[in-house]
Amino acid sequence: MIRKLLDKVFSRGRRGPAGGHRGGGAPVTIPSSKHGVTKDRISSSARRVTETLQSHGYKAYVVGGAVRDLMLDRTPKDYDVATDATPEQVYAVFRRSRIIGRRFRLVHVMFGQDTIEVSTFRANQSAGDDDHKKDEHGRLLRDNVFGNQEEDAVRRDFTANALYYDPGTEEIIDYCGGYDDVKTRTLRMIGDPSVRYREDPVRMLRAVRLAAKLGLTIEPQTEAPIREMAHLMQNVPAARLFEEMLKLLLSGHAVACIQRLRAQGLHHGLLPMLDVILEQPMGERFVMLALQRTDERILDEKGVSPGFLFAALLWHEVLATWNAAQGRGVPPVPAMHEAMDQVLTTQAEKISIPRRFGVDMKDIWLLQWRFEQRSGKRPYRVLESPKFRAGYDFLLLRCESGEVDAEVGEWWTRFQDAPESEREEMLLPADKAGGAKKRRRRRKPRSEDGADTASSAPSGDDA
Ligand code: ATP
Ligand code: MG
Repeated sequence: MIRKLLDKVFSRGRRGPAGGHRGGGAPVTIPSSKHGVTKDRISSSARRVTETLQSHGYKAYVVGGAVRDLMLDRTPKDYDVATDATPEQVYAVFRRSRIIGRRFRLVHVMFGQDTIEVSTFRANQSAGDDDHKKDEHGRLLRDNVFGNQEEDAVRRDFTANALYYDPGTEEIIDYCGGYDDVKTRTLRMIGDPSVRYREDPVRMLRAVRLAAKLGLTIEPQTEAPIREMAHLMQNVPAARLFEEMLKLLLSGHAVACIQRLRAQGLHHGLLPMLDVILEQPMGERFVMLALQRTDERILDEKGVSPGFLFAALLWHEVLATWNAAQGRGVPPVPAMHEAMDQVLTTQAEKISIPRRFGVDMKDIWLLQWRFEQRSGKRPYRVLESPKFRAGYDFLLLRCESGEVDAEVGEWWTRFQDAPESEREEMLLPADKAGGAKKRRRRRKPRSEDGADTASSAPSGDDA
């Protein structure tokens, strides 16, 4: 096994990348006097990981997004370390560590609150190589073959993400021209962009997200194939798509990202219904408002709940399906359950939302019906709901987008803080409690196309 590994590392000829990037060959070493990133800007945990590995005789560098972010004067979100030690060797060096990963194995090293992700240098695919099986669209099914540092550099996505920083020497090692690209704020694919998108269509999403988040320009050859390859997003496993979509939505630049996705035609493959929703003026207003609020919260370093976010993205689809079911005579609550299940099932074919978020989403959606019930004991029970806060924020968004009368939101704003005597006066008489529902029914229904989309959208529908 070791023998096989060593063979892999040393005997394989260097596979030069196929496209226009300036990668491969001898690396350029850039001293800190030139790049200006000093080691005190690296988290102490990441430094301890590289120092410890190096003291055991291994190569170890901070790599990827963290180096890029430091060069751009941003605080890295997290630190990745790349090393020539195998996962087992890394695990043996650190007491508080664990080997994780299905697609490829890496090691999480824990220091206090910090977790540093340590990955062994890996190689990219080579044609006909059994360890790099691709599907019929050219998507890589495995990429878990160890390699040397240069191979590890060229298997990465963008040149800006392929810089290695050694906290010991404060040098940056650059195999792909990433240093110059970061300096000129260019996002450039390593190798032939079309081939690299085929291998992993998620790279298209990453291009959009990183460009929007970091204010980088996507280099023309890197950008060119995206539009025509957008349909490949359909082959991405649903769980992976969820992860990447979440990163995008929580990037603090979700509005800019969605705008770019739409400009590139990439939004079709994401949430099955997102393209439908964004084409409805009311749905678009609501979704964009929700994303704007999310961006603001993230920039203010406030928490954002993924359940809330996905509940917002799919709300207008739920609403349309709910209205359609009620139109068939199904009572409101069963109709809502039917709508929620239908919408969640349809979109699960593309992007799998973890169950715990699905539960939050349903709570938030169900509360929207309960907010209409403003007589008797019901509003008191709503206040006690563990999801009241999220549901109420959601209601305010609906009011702001013009879907619901502002009066309903104002009522709940007052009701939740009012003294008991005032609350009682606020309650609506039983026969008026359904007022909001009547209003909703009178609104121009988009239920027909919405319901059709929700019930009949197989994966091929959004192409
Ligand atoms: P972020 O700021 O969002 O963390 P990042 O570039 O660090 O951005 P990660 O998902 O943390 O993104 O990935 C770490 C590194 O792994 C990247 O910088 C890149 O070098 C490499 N990488 C990640 N995803 C891919 C991919 N799909 N194809 C090739 N390389 C990738
Ligand atoms: Mg990262």
